[in-house]
Amino acid sequence: MAKIENIDIKYLTGVGPKRAELLNKQLDIYTYRDLLYYFPFRYVDRSKIYRIRDISGEMPYIQICGRFISFNTAGEGAKRRLQALFTDGSGTIEVVWFNRLKAITDSYQPGVEYILFGKPNVFNGRFSLAHPEVEVYRPTAEPNGLRGIYSLTDTLHKRGFTSKTIQTLVRNLFDKVKTLPETLPKSIIDSCRLIGLYDALTAVHMPSNVQQMQQGRFRLKFEELFYIQLNILRYTRTRNAKSRGYVFSRIGENFNNFYFNVLPFALTGAQKRVLKEIRADMGSGRQMNRLLQGDVGSGKTIVALMSALMAIDNGFQACLMAPTEILATQHYESLSEMGKRIGIRIELLTGSTRKRKREDIHEGLLSGDIDILIGTHAVIEDTVNFNNLGLVIIDEQHRFGVAQRAKLWQKSAVPPHILVMTATPIPRTLAMTVYGDLDVSVIDELPPGRKPIATMLYYENNRERVNEMIFRELRAGRQIYIVYPLIQENEKLDLKCLEEGYQYVVDTFCDYGVSFVHGKMKPADKDEQMQRFASGETRILVATTVIEVGVNVPNATVMVIENAERFGLSQLHQLRGRVGRGADQSYCILMSKHETTRDTRRRLEIMTETTDGFQIAEADLQLRGPGDLEGTQQSGIAFNMRIANLATDGQILSMARDYANELLDADPDISKPENAVAAEQLRLLFSKTIDWSRIS
Ligand code: ADP
Ligand code: MG
Repeated sequence: MAKIENIDIKYLTGVGPKRAELLNKQLDIYTYRDLLYYFPFRYVDRSKIYRIRDISGEMPYIQICGRFISFNTAGEGAKRRLQALFTDGSGTIEVVWFNRLKAITDSYQPGVEYILFGKPNVFNGRFSLAHPEVEVYRPTAEPNGLRGIYSLTDTLHKRGFTSKTIQTLVRNLFDKVKTLPETLPKSIIDSCRLIGLYDALTAVHMPSNVQQMQQGRFRLKFEELFYIQLNILRYTRTRNAKSRGYVFSRIGENFNNFYFNVLPFALTGAQKRVLKEIRADMGSGRQMNRLLQGDVGSGKTIVALMSALMAIDNGFQACLMAPTEILATQHYESLSEMGKRIGIRIELLTGSTRKRKREDIHEGLLSGDIDILIGTHAVIEDTVNFNNLGLVIIDEQHRFGVAQRAKLWQKSAVPPHILVMTATPIPRTLAMTVYGDLDVSVIDELPPGRKPIATMLYYENNRERVNEMIFRELRAGRQIYIVYPLIQENEKLDLKCLEEGYQYVVDTFCDYGVSFVHGKMKPADKDEQMQRFASGETRILVATTVIEVGVNVPNATVMVIENAERFGLSQLHQLRGRVGRGADQSYCILMSKHETTRDTRRRLEIMTETTDGFQIAEADLQLRGPGDLEGTQQSGIAFNMRIANLATDGQILSMARDYANELLDADPDISKPENAVAAEQLRLLFSKTIDWSRIS
């Protein structure tokens, strides 16, 4: 017999084929189980009724009780709406609907008391409720206590779905489903004193009090994190046990020669520490898989080069892969110079390398004549083969897909050591989850003598002041970046904005040359524009975020970011890192619309308060949730976490990890009968995801 959780949602009381289709498409709910695991994202206390007089702008969801005084329709076409006035004797509030106007007017009964439930908005200093839940007030009915609020899509709202609709369906579901098989091993439930699965699900959907709700949530969060950790850790262990790596036992001539005769500065303490960690890894006999995190400007490139020298000193080749042609070229230019001085051969391979040169490089790689290959995606083409590739370094990891990286490691019989470098700081909890199987090194110290970048938040009415500042820097011989957002959704509008912005810049700063780049340009045109800016021929670069990654123009001292409210914090931080690379004081100017929400303003203020990438990443995680964080989406793993929150559940995560390790210590391949339930859950949850032991 089919398990009850797997029954199609259309058979649930209150659903039917039409609603089922909506639930499928809008919320990804196909089965009873999907609905059971569609959790409320917050709770409200329905026993509390507010007075209209006491409403303030800070309130999330409120409940008020009273009568409608009037109904009016207003506006035309898409703007058509139904407006009502509602009073409870202490004051009045406007109630607005944008859809299903007729259905609402028809169901209204004059003279009846209603309870409205919704989130108050402020507009022109007045409060209103849009699309509230409406119920007839029954004085005898028991107060509802805690009620879960479910997130819904716009389409569902338009079709008349509210949180209460979901609540009703969930109730219908629990009328049918009276028991569920446990999904955690009994030993873990006992030692963590967790409540059972069925009780936890009931408690989360229909809590009778706060404590019960919290117990339920704890159990489900623990379980979610436990299985993610168990999955990652089992691969880490297999990989550690199996994957032999080349042993780089020597520190040799090239490294020492470079260190004592070429290196133009003293390494920072953090750089030294990281080099030691890398050396220990590459000498250990197992394949290195290390993530090197370091803020923009922290000096990762030199660490990459010196790691490559370790490979060369042990008779191997190294490959450095960068996400853009500009970046690869910059790396090549700075490194080949130093390479020449110690007599090693470094070559550059990109999409625009000429055929003759390309063939020459292919030969040099095969014969072992080339020591370091620097390049873009071009280096992973099938025609590129090495004599003995010992180390692969990937700069700005999140621009490369997992599959692309995998292609590189396949270029060698024994997998080469891997060093992945990223300037996107990843908070610890996230790193443990996303990169749970990589070792992490951190450069947490900037080279000495850098002046912190001064960051300022300005609104449109300060435009003149901003322009004056730009003029001042231009007159002092400096260069300026001006960045516009370009986001897929309304590409056309953004492009218009960018072009108008460019025109404005050309008109305003007419004595200075201006470069212009965006993602839709031909690579050759883009490169030419960038090159003119890099050489100082143009003094201003108007661009979209294509410049986010890695460009190095030390003479640039001002970064202006237009519509800053539309960027994520981590992205702003990356952009800001383009200036402050020389000895001069640099500035980052965030331009924002005046009428932003409090949250947005708060976000932008964080940028003005700190230049610490990790602090910014933490704040970003808190404010936006991990789904939006750069690095998680592109990393090729979709953790659809339903209830745990990496920003706030760090402790539960550590605990889950400890228990996962304990289970693996006792039962490495998860084959003991008492852990059968864990093996089954792993199969259900992760059978479709990537096998990390093979690619990282
Ligand atoms: P990122 O980590 O962003 O890739 P880079 O490797 O491009 O940073 O380094 C930024 C700049 O700092 C470069 O010009 C580099 O030469 C310089 N640099 C790196 N390490 C040091 C150091 N220890 N002392 C002084 N300057 C350094
Ligand atoms: Mg770099």
